Amino acid sequence: MVTFTVNQLKGKIMNTVRAIGATSAEAPLDTLDIERRNPAAGDVEIEILYCGVCHSDIHTARGEWPGTIYPVVPGHEIVGKVTRVGEAVRKFKVGQTVGVGCFVDSCQSCHNCREGLEQYCEAGVTATYNSPSRVEKTITKGGYSTHIVVREEFVLSVSDKLPLYAVAPLLCAGITTYSPLRHWKVGKGHQLAVLGLGGLGHMAVKLGASMGAEVTVLSRSESKRADAQKLGAHQFELTTNPEAKENLSNRFDFIIDTVSASHDYNEYLPMLKTNGVMIVLGVPPTPSELHATQLIFGRKTLAGSLVGGIRETQEMLDYCAAHGIVSDVEMIRADQINQAYERTIAGDVKYRFVIDMASLKV
Ligand code: NAP
Ligand code: ZN
Repeated sequence: MVTFTVNQLKGKIMNTVRAIGATSAEAPLDTLDIERRNPAAGDVEIEILYCGVCHSDIHTARGEWPGTIYPVVPGHEIVGKVTRVGEAVRKFKVGQTVGVGCFVDSCQSCHNCREGLEQYCEAGVTATYNSPSRVEKTITKGGYSTHIVVREEFVLSVSDKLPLYAVAPLLCAGITTYSPLRHWKVGKGHQLAVLGLGGLGHMAVKLGASMGAEVTVLSRSESKRADAQKLGAHQFELTTNPEAKENLSNRFDFIIDTVSASHDYNEYLPMLKTNGVMIVLGVPPTPSELHATQLIFGRKTLAGSLVGGIRETQEMLDYCAAHGIVSDVEMIRADQINQAYERTIAGDVKYRFVIDMASLKV
């Protein structure tokens, strides 16, 4: 049982809850106490059951991207149950299963927000963690915690049909791959390559195959060949084999690039057909150089995509519930988080670690 300690902080009732976070780029993650606001009129309070471990959590916790404010509590693949709602909340009630993804607020009035593209909010989206809150004068803290309080507009409805621990990664890995597949209308008749078979990559394979594309996994890990097929891929090519790479020139309509480490886009663009599109999802810590000729010859596009808006995230969750699509997960206890980070970096994850938040409550 979790008991809240109620504190009076900056004139607001705050509740102290347990979390896992990092106090510096070098420090391992450890248990810490954080404050959550009492639900305001439009807020939903959620008891977190499961939270996925995204590579973005690692980039942020370890200061690989600029701008981490410590202590940081990562986690943006959240599934849980509603425990309290503010008096103005209409869409959710206590006991309901819900999810929270990569952002918890936005201006709600700019062109992008009105279009349902809150992730591209012109005033800056409020990320689920490590972002200045619009509600409190503090930095948001993510899903590696027992509870979270989120504005109703940024809470997703989750079906109880699928195992909830395996639904959690859909809130980032699922929507981040679903959104570009839909935007570029990937489907039947298309050759789709998925570069990197990790959390995002395995969801790109499942979703791309479910939409009718012919999927090829491009991986540096021979050990993932059999899994790629089980996940729905039609082919598997080893990127460490220069000959295989050469044979792939002019092969794909789309490449979805999920690689988390620095790599050379120039090596993959020749694999696109004329008019082909390479969609970069991975955010390596260092920039990459691009030769213009790679795009000019063959009228190719190098594009990027950031998660997906709230409307599209709900659409993706409903699509996955209807098609029985979930993530392949390895469940961990809260105290295994540092090991999980090391294994993710080593590419030893099949294919998403998910924290069982019950292990943080005892
Ligand atoms: P992940 O589970 O660690 O998967 C990344 C995969 O990249 C690995 O499984 C590996 O696949 C490949 N890889 C890793 N290191 C490599 C290296 N040195 N050289 C070549 N390939 C390497 O990570 P993830 O959670 O899927 O996230 C992937 C990236 O997407 C991260 O940078 C993350 O921050 C970013 N991300 C972006 C968005 C967005 O909105 N655009 C959203 C979420 C995450 P193989 O073993 O198969 O080669
Ligand atoms: Zn993520």
